[in-house]
Amino acid sequence: MEDPLLTVIGAGQSGLSTAHASSRRGVRALVLEAAEHPGGSWPHYYDGLTLFSPARFSSLPGPPMPGDPDRYPHRDEVVDYLRDYAARLDADLRCGERVDRVVRDGDGFVLTLADGSRIRSRAVVSATGGFARPHRPRLPGLDGFTGTVLHAAEYRSPEPFAGQRIVVVGGGNSGVQIAAELAGTARVTLATRAPVAWAEQRPLGRDVHWWLVRSGLDAAPLGRLWERAPVLVNDDGRYRSAFATGNPDRREMFTRLDGDKVTWADGTVEKADTVLLATGYRPALDHLAPTGALDAAGRPLHRGGISTTVPGLGYVGLEFQRAFASATLRGVGRDARRVVRRLLP
Ligand code: FAD
Repeated sequence: MEDPLLTVIGAGQSGLSTAHASSRRGVRALVLEAAEHPGGSWPHYYDGLTLFSPARFSSLPGPPMPGDPDRYPHRDEVVDYLRDYAARLDADLRCGERVDRVVRDGDGFVLTLADGSRIRSRAVVSATGGFARPHRPRLPGLDGFTGTVLHAAEYRSPEPFAGQRIVVVGGGNSGVQIAAELAGTARVTLATRAPVAWAEQRPLGRDVHWWLVRSGLDAAPLGRLWERAPVLVNDDGRYRSAFATGNPDRREMFTRLDGDKVTWADGTVEKADTVLLATGYRPALDHLAPTGALDAAGRPLHRGGISTTVPGLGYVGLEFQRAFASATLRGVGRDARRVVRRLLP
């Protein structure tokens, strides 16, 4: 078999849209996916998750997400959509194939898979997810906390937490949504360093994504400058109403944990059963370490998704890779097209 011109690692939305862009340029990409099915991390997100963007702003290039374009699709609809998208794709998609290691070799790459087999490829795109590694910040006393500590990545549904006293850490979309959901059966506080920065879901009667796209802000190549902006929490009013009831409530970040106790910034101390960290994610790119593509902290050295240290290597799906919408269903296709154009001139 001939060596592929392009190998894509990962078959989530990023890998699939990269393979789609490649086929549009006449190159049938090899796509290697560790899991047994394409579709990425979506099946592992919590059960109650609905998209923050309506269906009309949640499609990849090619077949659109079916159904009412103004609804906010549930997680499972995204899973179905991506599996169907993968089935229609003109690509050599292989599931159950984890890439352990990538090295540069001559004018291409050698990829070593978990079973020890090797594949040569001219160019490589790592589409392994910007949200692959749950980030656990160092918080005073967290290591010795005797209650349950879990990351939002491990949270599925509120039932196992019924009747508990729960502290959710982190004021982004996940923290707010999970805190509101848990408050149906538990006593919940959202602990954040700054007040939640609310964004209207439908300013002037239009979904916020309509404005983002129309204004050009969604696609503006501002890259990591976005990391300095406050994290906005989309709300149609439902979350602010939930917080107005007092359960959940929002408090300034606690000063420490000690055994099963939490000490709040005002000095009050109380028992807590669970601390849930909604503190974000980092990409997992260890397989690229041998190429010299990463900095000392394991972050990719790139500009707009093209490696600045390794010719022929690209990324799709990194948060703020090029624009605000880079790591979203609606934005990833634009980046994929651009990266493929640069790697397959
Ligand atoms: P992933 O979905 O993580 O897929 C990466 C794939 O790579 C996986 O299938 C994995 O198995 C595979 N892989 C990893 N390493 C290897 C390897 N070494 N070898 C082979 N395969 C490998 N975006 C929106 O547009 N709307 C939303 O409403 C929205 N909600 C979100 C809610 C949460 C809780 C989170 C965390 C993110 C959300 N996002 C949302 C952001 C983003 O769209 C998702 O995170 C999406 O899953 C990212 O897709 P991806 O393909 O980049 O990565």
